[in-house]
Amino acid sequence: MLGLRVFLSPYKPFNDASKSWDPSEQPTWPASTVTLIEGDHDAVLVDGLMTLAEGEQVLAWIRGTGRRLVAAYVTHGHADHVFGLEPVLTAFPEAQLVTLAEIAPAVAGQTDEKLLALWNSYFPGQLSAHPRLPVAMSGDRLELEGQVIECVLLGRSDVEMSSVVHVPELAAVVAGDVAYNRVHMWLAGSDPKTRAAWIDSLDAIEELHPQSVIAGHKDPGTPDDDAARILDESRRYIRDFDDVVAGSESAPEIVAKMFAKYPTWGNPYTLTYAADTQRP
Ligand SMILES: [Zn+2]
Repeated sequence: MLGLRVFLSPYKPFNDASKSWDPSEQPTWPASTVTLIEGDHDAVLVDGLMTLAEGEQVLAWIRGTGRRLVAAYVTHGHADHVFGLEPVLTAFPEAQLVTLAEIAPAVAGQTDEKLLALWNSYFPGQLSAHPRLPVAMSGDRLELEGQVIECVLLGRSDVEMSSVVHVPELAAVVAGDVAYNRVHMWLAGSDPKTRAAWIDSLDAIEELHPQSVIAGHKDPGTPDDDAARILDESRRYIRDFDDVVAGSESAPEIVAKMFAKYPTWGNPYTLTYAADTQRP
């Protein structure tokens, strides 16, 4: 019997400013999740967080479950799902850090000198000096106490190449950044084509028939259990953004229209940043 447990790290301040952002307000990073797939004795972690402090919190949380970590899987190549893993992997040296062969190069790219400098400028003094990088799996399956965990390559989300983790026994999908749960979606730099491709990835999750979807970014307190709601809302948000961009002349206009449609969604900074990449 497997089980799922989700750890959520709340919105956290970081150093950046978009043009449309009120400079008197503090930019925040989206609230983020990691998921532990648990057997009776062992466990597999899906994604890590960003900072060393978050890594320590995740480590204490895993220890509290009494499970032995045997593997950690990274869904996609974004530092905020990887860099925080160092304290966890140091404490569980036998745990393998892995990802699909198609994803591994993008994760490694996060530690390029330029990107590493950017991440450190966002979170000065808070990141591992030597983030661990996943090794490419030879296939697309992990095993936990005799149960299969499928790592499914999907393609576009807020990054070019994304995967999700499907746990058939639990009818659950751990979605990384393919699905968001009531947090403004990272559409910075997107265009109509990449937005349509992201919707295709959400459709592909639906084809796995999950009952629960764990989004990599979710508003604290929002439930994970309604896969249909989460997939529908993510698709609708992307379509709405697409329509709003097409019908707007400026970034502030995009922001105002999207806020009117999604007044309660978390991390407004993500939206203002995305809007700046679409219109002056
Ligand atoms: Zn993310």
